[in-house]
Amino acid sequence: MRAAFLHGVRDIRVREVADAEPGAGEVLIAVSAVGICGSDLHTYLLGNIGGVRSDEPIVLGHEASGVILALGADAPAHLRVGQRVAIDPAIPCLQCEFCWRGQHHLCLNLKFIGYFPQHGALRERMVHPARAVVPVPDSISDVGAALLEPLGVALHAARLGAVQHGEDVLVIGCGAIGLLCVRLARLAGARRIFAADRHVWRLDMAANFGADYCLNIEQVDLIQEVLRTTNKRGVDVAFEAAWVTETANQCALAARNGGRVIIVGIPAEDSFTLTASVVRRKELTIIYSRRMNHTYEAAIALAERGMVDLDALGKFQMPLTRAAEAFAAAAEYHDGVVRAMVMPQMKG
Ligand SMILES: [Zn+2]
Ligand SMILES: [Zn+2]
Repeated sequence: MRAAFLHGVRDIRVREVADAEPGAGEVLIAVSAVGICGSDLHTYLLGNIGGVRSDEPIVLGHEASGVILALGADAPAHLRVGQRVAIDPAIPCLQCEFCWRGQHHLCLNLKFIGYFPQHGALRERMVHPARAVVPVPDSISDVGAALLEPLGVALHAARLGAVQHGEDVLVIGCGAIGLLCVRLARLAGARRIFAADRHVWRLDMAANFGADYCLNIEQVDLIQEVLRTTNKRGVDVAFEAAWVTETANQCALAARNGGRVIIVGIPAEDSFTLTASVVRRKELTIIYSRRMNHTYEAAIALAERGMVDLDALGKFQMPLTRAAEAFAAAAEYHDGVVRAMVMPQMKG
C-alpha cells in the first residue's frame, strides 16, 4: 500500500510500504479521508512542532475516517468489518494520574498519530487501537467523519470558553477551527459574534457559519471595530484561533473587564506576548486549550443533526498520490481551501 511521508520542510513523498496485520485489540482500517490540520502545516513548513522534531520521515495526518477491513483478537462487539468509523488520533494510557482524573488529553504517556514517533493517517490502510475508533452514522460523509476531530478541538475550546446566552464573542482566525468556534458560539446563543481574518473568502465562510461582523484585518483595526460596536465594553469571550504571535494580545485588548481569552492556535514561534497591564487591569482569565477530551459523541450529534456543516470545510479533495499538492494548497491559503482533504481511496 502507499503512504505519504514528510521527509523535510515542504518535502512530501508518496511511496509503497508494507501492510500491517491488526493485533489483539486493534483494527485494520481503509482510510477514506484525512484533513490537513494547521499543526500538520506547522510540521510541513517548519520541520517541527513546538520543538518536537521528527528524526526520520513521518506520515502526518490525525483527522481521519475510514472503513474497518479486519478485526484483531478481542475486538469490541460494537465493531464489525465494513463499519464506517472516525479515527480518534489520541491514544491515552488509561493508567496515569491524568487519565484517572478523566483528563485523557493530558495523559503522561499519550500517543497521538501523525506526531513523532507515531505515524499518521496519510496512507491507504492503517492499524489502530479498536478503543480509539468511533462508529459514525451514514448521514455523516467520509469528509465529515474525518472533520469530527477538528470539531472536537473546537468543542473543547468552546467548553473552556463557556459562552453564555447573550454574550459577545470574538474569534480571531477563520480556518477550520476558528469557523467551528464561530458556529459553536452561535449555537450557544451568543449575541454578537465578531470574526477576524485577512482572507475575504474565509470571512465569507465565517458569515455562513454565523458571524455577525466579519472583520478584514487588512482593512480595519479589529480592536477598534470591536470596541466601537460594543460601546467600548469589549467582548465577553475571545477565541484565538490563528497562529500569529500578536493575536493573543489582540484578544486581550478586545475582551471586556473580567472577560475570558481562550487560546486554541499554536504560535509559529512557540511563544506569544500579552500586555501585562491590560490582562491585569481587566482581570482576564486566559485559558489554553489543548486538543480535546471526550468530544466525539457531541461532535457526531451536532454533525448528524446538521447543526454544523463539516462538508463545507472539506470541499478541496486530492487523492493520496497528490498529497504534496494538498499541503502546498493549504500552506498557500488557496481560495476556498479551508481544510485540504486527502482521500486515500480516490483514484489518481
Ligand atoms: Zn488537528
Ligand atoms: Zn495516561
